[in-house]
Amino acid sequence: MRKLLLLLFAFVLVSCSKTYDPLSGKEVFTLLPTSEEIKIGQMYVPLAVDENDGRYPDKEVQQYIKNLGEKIARHTPRKLNYQFYLVNTQAVNAFALPGGFIFVNRGLILTLDKEDELAGVIAHELAHVNARHHARFLEKVYGMNILLSIAGIFAYQSKYGDILMNFGKIGAQLISLKWSRDQEKEADRLGVRFAYDAGYDPRGLLDTFKIFKKLGKVKQPEWLLTHPLPDTRIKEVKQLIKQLDLSKKLIKDSPQFHRIKAKLEKTKPSFDLYYKAKEKVAKDKKLAALELLDKSLEIYPENNASLTLKAFILLSEDKFEEGTQLAVKAASLDDMYFKPHFFAGYGYFKLKKYSKSVKFLERAKDLIPNFPDVYYFLGRDYEELGKVQKAVENYQKALKLTDGKRGWEKDAKKRLSRLLGY
Ligand SMILES: [Zn+2]
Repeated sequence: MRKLLLLLFAFVLVSCSKTYDPLSGKEVFTLLPTSEEIKIGQMYVPLAVDENDGRYPDKEVQQYIKNLGEKIARHTPRKLNYQFYLVNTQAVNAFALPGGFIFVNRGLILTLDKEDELAGVIAHELAHVNARHHARFLEKVYGMNILLSIAGIFAYQSKYGDILMNFGKIGAQLISLKWSRDQEKEADRLGVRFAYDAGYDPRGLLDTFKIFKKLGKVKQPEWLLTHPLPDTRIKEVKQLIKQLDLSKKLIKDSPQFHRIKAKLEKTKPSFDLYYKAKEKVAKDKKLAALELLDKSLEIYPENNASLTLKAFILLSEDKFEEGTQLAVKAASLDDMYFKPHFFAGYGYFKLKKYSKSVKFLERAKDLIPNFPDVYYFLGRDYEELGKVQKAVENYQKALKLTDGKRGWEKDAKKRLSRLLGY
């Protein structure tokens, strides 16, 4: 209880913080200071990476997105350490987390035709961050509670397993925030300006809208689910652009965009097979999935999503050597991707290589701190390594986080009471 009061007290203090609104330049009172907003965003980056099947495993591609994003971010008033990631998912989408973490999907680049279209979407996402839309969402929905929950998550060494449980719930909300009409209007107004100030033709965003409208006749692009696109919105963006001087030299396209897109097109068949395999796994058709994954990895051996799924299937079939090897490779291609780290840790445990297992499971725990199985297997590892205190702590955490259906609960309780000397 004392700890809880301390947490409350600490957050009453920070909740009264003053900050400068980067858009108006005025001093405003906020419930969520920028430093906390960044911490929240940062905390959910690995969850977003995992939900989107990992980051695209190619340094040149990541560097391109980073350069393009930073070029636009420099022309935004809110000075944050913006980060840009290209994730593997085929969904036509881009999204931002609080504090300036911007995600662009592989599927988005594959649908666009030139760089000013991509710049328009990234500028729009940066606009949501600049207008503090995520922060305002958190303030509105959670008020004081969000700060308390976050305090609990940050201090997840503490005893508040129930607070830790909120981790995934909040993350899911942040990843798919649906913006209001007014927020979209504001983000369009700012985004058009940001893209233009960075030297891009602001009409690129209109071309993106055209592509999305056309796609929408077959399948609604995911971006439109969270950023609705009524015809009034297109009209308003046209109005905004009319007010700009379009006679100055503006960037429409770049050879780099096409080099990156060509790379993604080349590996697209590999990812298509991955998604087919994922469907097979969902229907428990593991053999069919393995066949698809083998083809997928023949086309693109670095496909970290396919490596991870294949590792999962092999480990579930007790093929620990090969499964672990694949998971280790996938983890080495993206140090922020939770699943391969967990699978590698699990595989090494099964192979009785406990120190190696600890290394991967500790990393998995840092990435996503509320998955109970990670703690159970860490407990097992530490027990084997003779580190009783650590084993106890991890079993306790595992039992606090479990939904009771993980299958190891009885065993964890038995081991725990033996270690505690009951
Ligand atoms: Zn939007």
